[in-house]
Parts: sequence; structure tokens; C-alpha cells
Amino acid sequence: MLNQPVLQVKGIGEKFAEDLANMRIFTIEDLLHYLPYKYNVLEILPLSELIHDDKVTIMGRVLYEPSLTFYGRKKSRLVLTVEVENVAIKAVMFNRSFAKKQLKPGDIVTLTGKWDAHRLQITVSNYRKGAQEESTDIQPIYSVKGDVTSYKLKKVISQAFKDYGDEITEILPSSYLKSYKLPTRKDTLRMLHFPQNNLELKHSRRRYIYEELLLFQLKMQLLRKKHREATDGNTQNYDEDKLEQFIQRFPFQLTNAQKSSLEQILRDMRSPYRMNRLLQGDVGSGKTAVAAVSLYASVTAGKQGALMVPTEILAEQHYQSLKELFGDLASVHLLTGSTKTKERRTILEGLENGEVDIIIGTHALIQDDVKFNDLGLVIVDEQHRFGVEQRRTLRDKGLQPDVLFMTATPIPRTLAITAFGDMDVSAINEMPAGRKAVETLWVKENMFERILKFIEKHVNNGEQAYLISPLIEESDKLDIQNAVDLYHTLLEFFPPEIKVGLMHGRLPSDEKESVMKEFAENNIQVLVSTTVVEVGVNVPNATIMVIYDAERFGLSQLHQLRGRVGRGDKQSYCILIAEPKNEVGKERMSIMTETNNGFELAERDLQLRGPGDFFGRKQSGVPEFKLADMVHDYRALETARQDAEHIVQNGLLYNDPSYENLRKLLEKDPSLQTKMD
Ligand code: ADP
Ligand code: MG
Repeated sequence: MLNQPVLQVKGIGEKFAEDLANMRIFTIEDLLHYLPYKYNVLEILPLSELIHDDKVTIMGRVLYEPSLTFYGRKKSRLVLTVEVENVAIKAVMFNRSFAKKQLKPGDIVTLTGKWDAHRLQITVSNYRKGAQEESTDIQPIYSVKGDVTSYKLKKVISQAFKDYGDEITEILPSSYLKSYKLPTRKDTLRMLHFPQNNLELKHSRRRYIYEELLLFQLKMQLLRKKHREATDGNTQNYDEDKLEQFIQRFPFQLTNAQKSSLEQILRDMRSPYRMNRLLQGDVGSGKTAVAAVSLYASVTAGKQGALMVPTEILAEQHYQSLKELFGDLASVHLLTGSTKTKERRTILEGLENGEVDIIIGTHALIQDDVKFNDLGLVIVDEQHRFGVEQRRTLRDKGLQPDVLFMTATPIPRTLAITAFGDMDVSAINEMPAGRKAVETLWVKENMFERILKFIEKHVNNGEQAYLISPLIEESDKLDIQNAVDLYHTLLEFFPPEIKVGLMHGRLPSDEKESVMKEFAENNIQVLVSTTVVEVGVNVPNATIMVIYDAERFGLSQLHQLRGRVGRGDKQSYCILIAEPKNEVGKERMSIMTETNNGFELAERDLQLRGPGDFFGRKQSGVPEFKLADMVHDYRALETARQDAEHIVQNGLLYNDPSYENLRKLLEKDPSLQTKMD
């Protein structure tokens, strides 16, 4: 009866139970699963190994009657002399006058506190009469609220264990315990609360982490299965011959990776279940071509397609290139926040009556009063963060199209199989042939003039350059080179035949559009910009990317910026101007110069930053575990994923009795009971 309220436990009264409720501990089960957030490991070391100023634990015999002195109001100082390894050590305790009565000459004491190696003195924070049984003593420390202390909590948990411990049922089949050498569920909890030694701690943590990850993966995969079974009948019967012809329109051959991703997408579109797929591909791997073919598939199936992108610049760019690509095969339109009212009305009508085949735009596309005639496919480019939200919006509009998310922000495998565990994933893991790796250099600011001369030389060769500055306005707090200043500096530096352009988020959108157009047509050779060009912008003739204050950007963002060059067949360069203040900053710059591989880079970024930061703080969908850590427990995560797959694919939860307890536990999860989006 572990689901009884904690009040049932001896030693827990109303007030205690209230405090526990504030810690979200309601039932006995909650209590048993409330784990220490850390452990104090008290290890008795020989005196010679104690380090000055460290927190240490020593054991010895009280030599004389302790001397107690009072000072100030109610303050006291108790000094003991303790014999340790035949050396007389002074132990000082503040405001513990009561200890004088407890500690008599001849008593053995264990003392923990700060060690002063020069005076052979310990300032005691914790003491215990008697010897510590083992040379190592591990004390659990819980995060607590109200009047609850770690000590009190430990006591009631121990009581709960005594009275209810036998009810902790094993959920893993015994074959798992055997092959992974895992302790039972009950032993695991006991050892996590009351570890006897480091080994117990290690094994119990290992088991708990595996269990957390397995449950999580099972949940994700069950959800995914549910998505698939929830057939909405949105089969898209596209015309294969037309697609073949369409692919001939590209001035290049699709790479094998593009082909196989496309096959997976098309298979989903043809099937009756709703596609929920993530297409991952490093910057420049050619996701747009895959998107274009998929959109055309919808059109040949008599439906409409939508391509949603995060910025107007990108929407404009996709619009231009897709319009050209489709020619009169499909009617392609652009809808953004700055589409003029009259035009907007025409487009909305066309969407509703089905005259518009393909619509490209920012996220206003699905949020506004936009109604579709028959929306078959939605592609969301470069916007993995908002996936969940947008799926919900679509559903709220009564639309159940196939959905494809494309991302060039390389999501490390660890995150892809957790945060996106309920999606299918396709990866373009191959670059178009003939690409030269971008050469990345890290320099200091005093190199600036030389960089400009370098740019001048390449521009005279017919190439183009970006210079990225982080902010558009000067701020006295941050001495960031401002884009406008930079623009003026360059105007002065370069001869008049080299045209310099300025791009930032606050420009009116028609001006943005014209600047990008001028740059794309090489009427502007050097573009000073903020990070608005970060995602997706495709000007293959640009070969130099200079990033100011590079240490202020995240690695993934730097990689995105770098991805703006190296898109043609000429050698490209990425120059990072940075003077990082700390080691992590220096490390990040070095990583950039060492690898061009977005996935490798993302893994290393994740290691430096931790998963919480990877998507920004408020990223939803990154699960919180009690003990598991997606970066450090990567191997366990992978094992758990495979095991979960095996369990779900073979229906073991339902047809193998040894999985019964596991199934029962999962059935308690609310998200598995109600239909998710
Ligand atoms: P991203 O994956 O970053 O969105 P894009 O789709 O913008 O990449 O493609 C980058 C560039 O590569 C474009 O100029 C595109 O025309 C070109 N490209 C795409 N696929 C191929 C291919 N198979 N062979 C050669 N060039 C390609
Ligand atoms: Mg792209």
C-alpha cells in the first residue's frame, strides 16, 4: 500500500506531512523515491594525508576534560584535546556547550570539520561519539523545506522502509537484473538512501538511472506507436512519374542521403498515418531540395503544401528559388507579416479555394485567419524549438497534415533520441560532392586591418564576404562592436567600387529584401549584418564569413553562421575575432577551428554546456530526470532505447507476464492514457 498518505508512517504528524507536501511528497511511495541530491562522504584519512583548509574527518580519544568558555551573549567555545595517531590534536566547537557533558576523557570521538594543518587543529562542524564503523561513512543530504531536515527525513524514510519496504515490487524482468547485474528495485532504493559504501552507491545509481531512462524511452515509443495507430486517413497518393521528372529539374544529382531521406518522407506521406518526422542535416547538406520534392508530392496528390520558416529573409529566399524551380508546375505564393493587405486577401482566398498550391511564409502562416482548402503537408524549416507548439496550433485548427521538421542545428544524438523520442528521424549525413571544407581561423582584434585586406583581395577576385556583429546598437554595458559603426568603418576603408551593405533586424522589411537581393546578385560585395543571416541564407558566391566577438555566440550558432559560406565550389574562410576571457571560451574557439562537422561540434558543445542550455533555458520537451543525465549517461540511454524498442515492437508489455509490473507502472502515466497531440 505504497500509495497511502505519508501520515501513515510512524513519526510523521500533521505538521511534518504538510512540510512534506510542500516538497511534493504525498504518499509513502513519493517518500521512498525522494532521493538525496548529494552525499557527504566522510572518509577517515591518516593525519599525513589531510589537506590544509579541507573538510576532513578524524577519529581519536578525548585526552582531558574539555574546556568551555563563554563570550558575548550566549556564545561559547569548547576546546577538546584529542589523541589521533599518538598526536595531540585541538578540536574547537562553537556554541555547543552541551557537548562538554557528553564527551569525557577516554571517550572515542569521530569529528568532521575544517582542518588547519599548521596548528594541528580542527574546527568541528559535526561530531559523533564512538568510532565510525567503516573507514568511509556516506551521509545522504536531501533538499528540504520548512522544518524538515536531512536528519529527520532520513529517520522517517528508514521507518517507512522498515514497515513498507517489502511492498516495493520489482518492475524489471529478472533476466534484465541478471544480464545487466542490477540490484533489485528494493535494494536500489535502500542503497540510495542508506549506502554502506561507495560500491553500493555506484550500483544503485546505475540501476536507478537505467530504470529512469528505460521508462522514459518506453513512454516515448509507446506514444510514437499511438501516433501511428491514430490513422487520420491522410493518405497522399502522389504521382511518382511527375516526381521523377521534377527531380530532373535540379541542376545537380541528389546525394544518396537526400534520396533515402526523401524515400522515408514519401513513404510516410503515402501511408494513412500522420507523418511526424524530423529531417536533420548539417548546414549546406541540401534540405531545401528534399523539401521541394515533398511539397510537389502533395501537389500531385491534389493537396496543398506549406513551408514555414523563422525569418522573412528566409521566406523571401525560399520563395524566389521555389518559384523559379516550380515554374508553371505549381502556383507558389509568399505570405509574411509584411504582405500588403490587398495581396494578402487574394492569397487567403486562393488558399481557401485551392488555387494556391504551395504557400511559403513565417509562422503567421498557420496562426492567423488562414484557412486551407486541403492541406496535405507542412514543412517547418530551421525551427525545431517550436515543434510542439505548432503541432498543437495545427490540430486546434482541425488540420491533420503530415508534418516534417527540418533542422540544421545539429541535434546531438543524445538529445535526438530523448527530446525527439516521439518523432521519426531522417538524417542527411552526407554533403554534396565537391564541397571544400571551410577553413576556420581564430584571430585577435588587432588583426582587423589584415582581415579587411584579405577581404579586399578576394572581392577583387569576384567573391563576397559577410561581417557579423552581434548587436545593432551601441550599449555601454557591452563593448560590442556595433553593426552601424562597423558599416561606416568599412565604407571608409574600402575603395568606392567595393559596395558595402548593412543588414539588421530593425530595417523595414522591403529594405531587408532589397539588401539581400543586391547581395545575392553581387551588387553588394561586403555585407555587414547582425545574426539575422544566421539561418538558411544561401548565397553560394560568398566565401568569407567574419564574426566579431565570436566568444559571445554559442557553438551551434557559430556553426550556422559559418554555414553561410562554403556553399559553392570555391575555398571559403570563416574568421573568428575573439578574445575569450576564460578557458571554456578558448576551448570553444579551438573546437570551431578543429571541426567542420556539425554533429561532432554539437556533441562537444553539449558536453561544455549541458543539455539544459543547449536549446535555451525554457526548452520544453527536454525531460528532467532524478539521477540520469543525458550527456554522461549516454551509454545507458542508448541501451535503454534499444531495450524499449525491443519491448514495444514485440508487444512484450501485453503478452509476456514478466513485464506485467512494468506495464502497470506505465499505465499510471497520464500522457499514455489520453491521446496526445
Ligand atoms: P541546407 O541543408 O543548409 O538548407 P540548402 O538546401 O540551402 O542547404 O543547400 C545548400 C546548397 O547546396 C544550395 O546552393 C543547393 O542548391 C546546393 N545543393 C543541394 N543539394 C545538392 C546536391 N545534391 N548536389 C549539389 N549541390 C546541392
Ligand atoms: Mg536550409
